[in-house]
Amino acid sequence: MTWIDLSVKTKIMKQQISLLIISITFLFAAISCQTAPEPDGNGLPKPKNIIYFVSDGMGYNHLLATNYFQHGEAGMQVFEQDDWVHLAQATHNLGRVSGSDTIFTNGYAPRNAWEDKQYVMYDYTDSGAAATALSTGSKNLRSHLGIDIDGDTLTHVSQAAKALGKSIGVVSSVPFSHATPAGFVVHNSSRHNYGEIARYMLFHTRLDVIMAPGHPFYNDNGKRSEEPSYRYVGSEAVWEQIASNEGLTEIADDENVYFVQDVDGNGVRDPWTFIDAREDFVALASGPAPGRVFGVPKVRSTLNQGRHRDEMAEMPFAQPFNENVPTLEEMTRASLNVLGQNNKGFFVMVEGGAVDWASHDNHLGRVVEEQIDFNNAVIAAVEWVEANSSWDETLIIVTSDHECGYLTGPNHPDPVNEPVVNRGQGNLPEAQWNSTSHTNMLVPFYAKGPGANLFNKFAGEKDPVLGPFLHNTDIANTIFLMWGKPEIEIHRLTY
Ligand SMILES: [Zn+2]
Repeated sequence: MTWIDLSVKTKIMKQQISLLIISITFLFAAISCQTAPEPDGNGLPKPKNIIYFVSDGMGYNHLLATNYFQHGEAGMQVFEQDDWVHLAQATHNLGRVSGSDTIFTNGYAPRNAWEDKQYVMYDYTDSGAAATALSTGSKNLRSHLGIDIDGDTLTHVSQAAKALGKSIGVVSSVPFSHATPAGFVVHNSSRHNYGEIARYMLFHTRLDVIMAPGHPFYNDNGKRSEEPSYRYVGSEAVWEQIASNEGLTEIADDENVYFVQDVDGNGVRDPWTFIDAREDFVALASGPAPGRVFGVPKVRSTLNQGRHRDEMAEMPFAQPFNENVPTLEEMTRASLNVLGQNNKGFFVMVEGGAVDWASHDNHLGRVVEEQIDFNNAVIAAVEWVEANSSWDETLIIVTSDHECGYLTGPNHPDPVNEPVVNRGQGNLPEAQWNSTSHTNMLVPFYAKGPGANLFNKFAGEKDPVLGPFLHNTDIANTIFLMWGKPEIEIHRLTY
């Protein structure tokens, strides 16, 4: 059985919500925005490029702990500076009352969050529902990726980018078929269908760049593994044919024949260029590059967070990083150079995926390491904008999908959700973990570039401590206002 081509109607839907646009346009015109690019149609800015950073699991205290360790003071990251939009973001998802069709959402109640030590531990989202909200603008049930509660297709912002002729990519420090990167491009009822998701990403989407772990032949220490695992990469046959780098456009396994997509719309299918060596990621950071890159570093589930799993040192950087594995920063530089070749622009989602994993482990040292790599990836993007683009044409978003671990200061719950306590540069702050899972706490949101001010318009609720907050769905919906929202015809795997 063959695949049905994913076709994205290039016709941009005239917005059904024109009234909303008109009012937003009016509001936007009334504020003094930073130099906007040529407005198009609805008068809103139309970013050429969007770089969308998601630090999975990052709450305010994760960021604060990292600042204290790195700098001995708060607010030191590039995206925390005054020329960025600062908001908070509510992450709650939808739930279904078991045994019924009743749908509910927990919402986020600021008073409860700051008075009831248990409140944020109930009805928290997962990375599937959160990625779907961040990517499609629709809240969702846990574990769903790019489909709504009835199983219908949702449009991803990456598909809006593609409809405009832009290149698209996903980059992560955890496997490419994992919830967040997958949640920005696929349509599947379960984030756990790794094989199906991987094949969907490789053959059914029009992704130009995939860079993330999942390598079958290496373990989490970046060492050759005796037992290969094809869990994250589709199947053994799919992996072998793509990794052979023979420019195949047709790939078969025992059950199916798959075709790579025509990603640039010139009528010719575009094969993947495969890389796995660190030096190949580093080399891709500048100069001419292949059009379509599938990069899987030589490590299984995460770049560095899983190394020395049995004897993790408490302090960040006490154990050397995996030598032959690129950092998230290096992969980000490579992805921007590849995607930046398209003169129509690009969309890329870069995920710091293992901040969440270290938080599930309640391991603050690893959280700080992962968050620093994420922060460095944002710096790399800022440098790319300033060297190769401008703040008139590139929008950078930095946010999270949910908090993980209920990380607080040592005296929580008195006061509830106390900030971590500074012990100076080079030291981990005084902190307390209150959960090994996610919470419903607000997470940070930052943006800079064309359209960044629009996000302020959606922050209609206010937290007494963290200030105005928007909802995770507002981010994608703002992008759709600027880029349009294409109708999507074919949504799911058909076998
Ligand atoms: Zn998690």
